[in-house]
Amino acid sequence: MNETRTKLIDRLRETLDAKGVLTGEDVTPRYHADWSRENPCRPEVVLRPADTHDLSKALALCNAAGQPIVIQGGMTGLSGGATPRHGEWAMSLERLRGIVELDPDSMTITARAGTPLEAVQQAAEEAGFILPLDLGARGSCNIGGNISTNAGGNSVIQYGMARALVLGLEAVLADGTIIRSRNKLLKNNAGFDLKQLFIGSEGTLGVVTEVTLRIFPRTLSRQSALCGLATFADVVAFFKAMKQQFGIITAFEVMWANYYRYAMENVNHLRDAFGQEHNFYILLETEGNDPDLDQQHFQNVLNAELERGRLQDVVMANTLEERDSFWAIRDAVGEFLLSMLRPANFDIGIPLGVMDQCLQEIVAALTARFDKLQFVTFGHLGDGNVHFIATTGRHEDNQAIYDIVYTIIGRYQGSITAEHGIGVLKKEWLYLSRTPEEIALMKTLKRAMDPNNILNPGRVIE
Ligand SMILES: Cc1cc2nc3c(=O)[nH]c(=O)nc-3n(C[C@H](O)[C@H](O)[C@H](O)COP(=O)(O)OP(=O)(O)OC[C@H]3O[C@@H](n4cnc5c(N)ncnc54)[C@H](O)[C@@H]3O)c2cc1C
Repeated sequence: MNETRTKLIDRLRETLDAKGVLTGEDVTPRYHADWSRENPCRPEVVLRPADTHDLSKALALCNAAGQPIVIQGGMTGLSGGATPRHGEWAMSLERLRGIVELDPDSMTITARAGTPLEAVQQAAEEAGFILPLDLGARGSCNIGGNISTNAGGNSVIQYGMARALVLGLEAVLADGTIIRSRNKLLKNNAGFDLKQLFIGSEGTLGVVTEVTLRIFPRTLSRQSALCGLATFADVVAFFKAMKQQFGIITAFEVMWANYYRYAMENVNHLRDAFGQEHNFYILLETEGNDPDLDQQHFQNVLNAELERGRLQDVVMANTLEERDSFWAIRDAVGEFLLSMLRPANFDIGIPLGVMDQCLQEIVAALTARFDKLQFVTFGHLGDGNVHFIATTGRHEDNQAIYDIVYTIIGRYQGSITAEHGIGVLKKEWLYLSRTPEEIALMKTLKRAMDPNNILNPGRVIE
């Protein structure tokens, strides 16, 4: 390490408390790579400020020294955004955690950025509310990471992406300036809505340090069912029918037969709810405020769908355990993903009207190119988001797999990333989903807000 870097570390040690700077053996593998496990790299230094002021001072020092920083939340990202690159030091939000305030009248919750999503959900629930942001990585991902990636997840169909839940936030710019966009109002047109700059920009424009989110009164009833269907046309027709029938649909998760089979064969604790295989499985969840009537209506509607023939089979959850067993199947990807040999992992967005055709074209193109291809397909279909995980067993084939899939997605005017973000791993295909003018404006904003290019350099854009 050269003298300038050593001096900078000394200054940072003086600025942060004893636990605030990690070097050497203390930089454990947790800081080397995000969940994608691609291109792990050990950062020389990990900064762990305990509050916004310390974070601001540390960033100002790094900015003055031109020291590039990668921001790290819960490290569950799948786009390589939080994975350090050579020469970067990590800024971990792990000590900046805790609930700041729950305001039951404004129906908001304010949390520090490093708070795990699940802890924010629990705090809301204990006060009789729900935070309708939910994803499989809930126990590990941080609310700051969720906001920076504009996370989606299971309830987008009803409540929108993370962005739709954010009312206010605090962020720190590369030069250490603290931007307090604190706000609890649903309506606030006083000038630019600056918080939007930090939502979904993946840490390229600032570090999110605190966030105020909308919460909603807990509903009194919830109905869950796992359904088996024969065709994609039935899936789409069923989706539209359910939108007409139910006021609140909180999940419409679709699993193709390849996903369901792979999960059953590879995750021991799962229980197959059906006696026979179906081409499509849907985890449907609705909510309401009249437990008896809601359950009866749910049963009537699904029985009518069975009689009409759109559903081949349905299992309704009568207990919390049964509901959990349905979600265990849907969330099993978190378990089997780690056992797959670093597959190509897609979170594509495809307009519903062309989704089936587009996916068939993708599978045809991939199977024509590769002899041994294993893939699973599932997604939050209600919002056009499909997850597609593919592997030939040879990691070196992934680049060609990405090229083939993204090129087809571009032709269908889909999105190369519906929720996980661009990070580092999808950067070369950004042009397929954004125009040259959009990308140029992103670069202009980046230059204006981080002129020394020290914050998450090379993420999203060059
Ligand atoms: C099993 C599993 C299921 C998943 N399901 C979903 C899903 O349904 N929907 C979905 O959207 N995603 C999903 N993901 C992806 C991931 O969980 C989300 O992208 C999540 O929002 C990342 O949060 P994190 O705290 O782990 O962020 P990290 O992985 O630590 O970071 C992600 C990006 O945000 C930046 N960043 C992190 N914290 C901050 C901050 N405070 N300020 C500025 N920048 C920051 C990082 O530099 C990086 O670029 C899933 C991942 C796994 C492993």
